[in-house]
Amino acid sequence: MFDLLLTEEEQKLQEEVKRFVREKVPSSLIRAMDAEEVKYPKEYVQSLAAYNLLGLRFSKEWGGRGMRWTGEVAAIEEIGVLGSGMTCLYSLVSIVGEAIHHFGTPEQKAKYLKPTLEAKLCCAEALTEPRGGSDFFGATTVAKRDGNSYILNGQKRFVVGAEGADYFLVYAKTAPQAEPHQSISCFIVERDMGVEVKHVYGLLGSRGGGTGRLYFRDTKVPAKNLVGPENGGYLVFNRMMIPERLTTAAGALGMARCCLEIATRYSDRRKAFGETIREFEAVSFKVADSITRLDAARSLVYVTARHVDEGLDSRRMVSEAKKTSTEMLWQVVNDSMQVLGGIGYTNVYPIERFFRDARLQMIWTGTNEIMDLLIQHEFYKEVLKRGIDSRDVEKDAGDVEGEEEKIYE
Ligand SMILES: Cc1cc2nc3c(=O)[nH]c(=O)nc-3n(C[C@H](O)[C@H](O)[C@H](O)COP(=O)(O)OP(=O)(O)OC[C@H]3O[C@@H](n4cnc5c(N)ncnc54)[C@H](O)[C@@H]3O)c2cc1C
Repeated sequence: MFDLLLTEEEQKLQEEVKRFVREKVPSSLIRAMDAEEVKYPKEYVQSLAAYNLLGLRFSKEWGGRGMRWTGEVAAIEEIGVLGSGMTCLYSLVSIVGEAIHHFGTPEQKAKYLKPTLEAKLCCAEALTEPRGGSDFFGATTVAKRDGNSYILNGQKRFVVGAEGADYFLVYAKTAPQAEPHQSISCFIVERDMGVEVKHVYGLLGSRGGGTGRLYFRDTKVPAKNLVGPENGGYLVFNRMMIPERLTTAAGALGMARCCLEIATRYSDRRKAFGETIREFEAVSFKVADSITRLDAARSLVYVTARHVDEGLDSRRMVSEAKKTSTEMLWQVVNDSMQVLGGIGYTNVYPIERFFRDARLQMIWTGTNEIMDLLIQHEFYKEVLKRGIDSRDVEKDAGDVEGEEEKIYE
């Protein structure tokens, strides 16, 4: 149904990814990740690279396919079927890659981006600090210039790939006294430059990515590893937040879709009171609600992808897509579990795993409260700047004398 929004090339890509997801990822790996027997599934990232599926939007010169966001969104919906851990590892290349592809020097692209798309190097992003993730510009990790290097001190936490990545995209204060938006810079920090991993978290879901805490103690990073301008980390951050949030939104579509399909098949076979349970409106209307929510979220995600592809300011749209899609996922997984009754709560079906994965989507890549903060901020700005440029419906109010009753203070 959404195929009409995709070009022929994008439809082919969607089929290609669907095939990859169906045939190239063993269930045993998904189970091992969920059981935390795996700290980083490098072989999975390598197999994605072998099919040239990493970093789809990036130019062919660096190993990408030069595709649009609409294509990537369609691809990530398919990857989403594998669950949050694998979708995250897939998306990290898109997120970290965006910073290097857009702001990196040719040397950085050759040294880091190309090998990342080939899975010769694995990347991770380190934004969140123990003191807080939402208040990004309040970061306390510092980077002090020292000749041709920067010396980093501080901590980051909840870093997916803390155990397995070869390098981290790290934000640190280079001008701690400056206004927050002018105080941060972005760096590529190789694990071997002296990054310590101290704590790997036990997670409710989204397991198998080795999510941990990083320490920088006088970590020496060459100045040439600065990404973008010094003190211009906000430019990189703003740009990175598009893939950060749009990949979460797209992955949620895939997770919701497969739970809903399990519930649909189950309710078509399961019997109660002598009838298949889909005959009960309480069941089939949950399916109706879920598919409506899924299609609505997918519509918004695709329109947002087009918006970004057109180079428009997409901050509000991206935040809306992330919030809508992740809240949709939470409701759809929950209703799918309800349709299955008791067996839905067991690990006989994977809905319980998606349920655990789903909870995280509303927290990471910016909490949904932060999405609300951005959405209202952008909308107030837009409406108040534009003024009333269509019909002034306030003049159509029933009370023609009511103007003087419009009291605001
Ligand atoms: C499994 C997992 C993996 C992650 N992976 C990564 C990763 O790879 N790299 C990385 O850098 N980070 C990662 N994160 C971090 C994640 O993005 C942060 O947890 C998230 O941004 C929230 O930050 P916080 O946990 O510090 O919560 P806080 O910022 O302390 O927020 C706590 C609560 O306060 C609310 N709040 C805060 N400020 C406001 C406000 N102004 N208005 C309204 N509400 C507000 C929040 O919405 C939240 O409900 C990961 C987190 C998890 C759990």
